[in-house]
Amino acid sequence: MRILVSNDDGYRAEGLQRLADALRPLAEVTVVAPDRNRSGASNSLTLDVPLRVASFGERAYYVNGTPTDCVHLAISGLFDFEQDMVVSGINHGANLGDDVLYSGTVAAAIEGRFLGLPTMAVSLVARDGGHFDTAARVASELVMRLMRAPLHSSMILNVNVPDMPYEHLRGFRVTRLGHRHRSESVVRATDPHGRAVYWVGPAGEGADAGEGTDFAAIAAGCVSVTPLQVDLTRHTALADLDEWLRGRAP
Ligand code: MN
Repeated sequence: MRILVSNDDGYRAEGLQRLADALRPLAEVTVVAPDRNRSGASNSLTLDVPLRVASFGERAYYVNGTPTDCVHLAISGLFDFEQDMVVSGINHGANLGDDVLYSGTVAAAIEGRFLGLPTMAVSLVARDGGHFDTAARVASELVMRLMRAPLHSSMILNVNVPDMPYEHLRGFRVTRLGHRHRSESVVRATDPHGRAVYWVGPAGEGADAGEGTDFAAIAAGCVSVTPLQVDLTRHTALADLDEWLRGRAP
């Protein structure tokens, strides 16, 4: 069993180290991670510059690219062996609701979707410090469960863990993605030459955070496990859209 571990916080992030350490007793772990924090990189590939790979330990590599680059390289030719699963994280911060569209952590998991087993993104819902040990234990339990009872291989699990000691967790919940209010306005500042620059502001609070959502599970002190799919087709709109197209001017 071979597990590829990646993240979007960069190869020096504590969460990456803790995740790799937690999974090493279960499988042969290879780490391929970005050379710096690429949070918010989403599913982007680097096409304008070549990618370089450097080693920072045994079976541990960093890349001058995005999380998607890292996983893409690792499963498409960097190694002469196949990976069985990708586990991404432990992200320092939530990936709830709309966050999954921007998340490099989730993107790394998505990039592993062609492998034989489901992939998993693990995030710790914490701003400072945080109980990475709790999230690491959750990740290892879920990987063990997957090894004993595999799910459909194209399934992507988005796991969010509340920031608390493991003993305080109130259980695991299967959830759907909620969604957030609009994010706060960009923050305007001035550079040393007097020109305007902008910072993207923080994400909004949960807007659809009701029963069944990932937000609600976290608020209740539960681990949230959301099954994701890549197919963005709005299947329920196909018939209506077909009718709409027929009504266009001849
Ligand atoms: Mn991140």
